[in-house]
Amino acid sequence: MHDRPSLDSSAEAALRRALELSLNYLRELERAPVRAASSGAELRERLNGALPEDGCSAVEVVSRLADDLRGGLNGNAGGRFFGWVVGGCLPAALAADWLTSTWDQNPGGHAVAPGACVIEEVCGRWLLSLLGLPAGSSFALVTGCQMAHFTCLAAARNQLLAARGWDVEERGLSGAPALRLVTGDQRHGTIERAVRMLGLGRGSIVDLPVDASGRLEPHVLEAELSRDRQAPTIVSLQAGDVNTGAFDPFGELIEVARRFDAWIHVDGAFGLWAAACGEYRHLTRGVELADSWATDGHKWLNVPYDCGYAFVRDPAPHYRAFSHRAAYLELSADDRDPVDWTPEHSRRARALPTYAALLALGRRGVAQLVSECCRHTRALVHGAAALAGVEVVSWPVINQALIRFRDEGPSATDADHDRRTERVIARINASGEALFTGTVWRGMRCMRVSVSSWKTTEADVQRALRAIQASL
Ligand SMILES: *Cc1c(COP(=O)(O)O)cnc(C)c1O
Repeated sequence: MHDRPSLDSSAEAALRRALELSLNYLRELERAPVRAASSGAELRERLNGALPEDGCSAVEVVSRLADDLRGGLNGNAGGRFFGWVVGGCLPAALAADWLTSTWDQNPGGHAVAPGACVIEEVCGRWLLSLLGLPAGSSFALVTGCQMAHFTCLAAARNQLLAARGWDVEERGLSGAPALRLVTGDQRHGTIERAVRMLGLGRGSIVDLPVDASGRLEPHVLEAELSRDRQAPTIVSLQAGDVNTGAFDPFGELIEVARRFDAWIHVDGAFGLWAAACGEYRHLTRGVELADSWATDGHKWLNVPYDCGYAFVRDPAPHYRAFSHRAAYLELSADDRDPVDWTPEHSRRARALPTYAALLALGRRGVAQLVSECCRHTRALVHGAAALAGVEVVSWPVINQALIRFRDEGPSATDADHDRRTERVIARINASGEALFTGTVWRGMRCMRVSVSSWKTTEADVQRALRAIQASL
């Protein structure tokens, strides 16, 4: 009997090839087109063969993967990707992500993955401190803000129903008092999906109109909450609207919501990071008074994808919603076992890249990252505003803004402006020089300007502006 070596020459060749391909990819990013050049159909042509009967060597697999995906990757690891809200990937976080896979830990509990569990605890503590949230809050590292909402709102559901004598974990929802979720009508779509997954149904959402700057006004919230004082209520507020970057006025809204015993949740997917930067912290004033907060690591912290954070002020309902016991797991009596706080059972040790990013940046580095992205957003918007036919629809509050390209014909209509905006976005993206995405805001087709990457520099901003100018 021979042991199978954990690293034979073929495994080593594959890992070296992956390293070489990664380094080449990162080196080429600056010259490569930002937008994926190949269509879905072209990629399918290359990739969609029959499942092979026989396998091949690891190094062949790695090479083939890179070959077959040629042209199929968007350059969001680079500095000129301004679409959606997509962060880059800090070198320390990327390296830690490689190690996460190499070490292959399953941080459900200390018995299974002690080191990874301790790293999670440290990340939780550091993140709470960095984001200015109450130190005793519980936390969970999940796949993204979508699952962070789900986690936080499961705790909310548990708590609100427990307060009415209903144990939802035991009895489920049929026959339970109906919950409502009250929010601004510019809320993100992931709130609705969380509500649906939690069995509350889309119909339990009350969308309130927001003001001209996209903020929910206290008197509007108060009027809705007064309408029904009995219903168990979640109020979902927003730190950073996905189109405009707007922040709800937390202090005043939370004061209102408290009077009605509502659970206050905050969607801070990217905007909560403003709290980590002295220049922008005022936008989040009062946010620490909420009951739960959801944010992302893979956006503004620039860790690789698959990373969001849920925080809950009172750990008890969070624990009740997710705690998990099974004899074979040998969970610890004293330690914090992550499986008790997350919707997943087995999962990757996604705390490692977060730990690496926080270590690499420090408090000052995070503040600087936030500040620079906001500065680049302003430079992009001011630069674009100076071009003929460009209208700024929403000036940046933080790192998001909206512009549109007006049709300058004498009798041009809104529909013409919409068409021109779409054409210009398509031309910019086709140039490969920068990538922007569109949205519809207040009925207007707009181009979103969104800067969340540590990679973006002033030179990238200038290059993107030249691409915009050439596409008009
Ligand atoms: C991106 C985003 C989400 C969803 O986050 P995921 O990480 O994609 O799950 C929720 N809310 C806002 C405001 C966002 O920008």
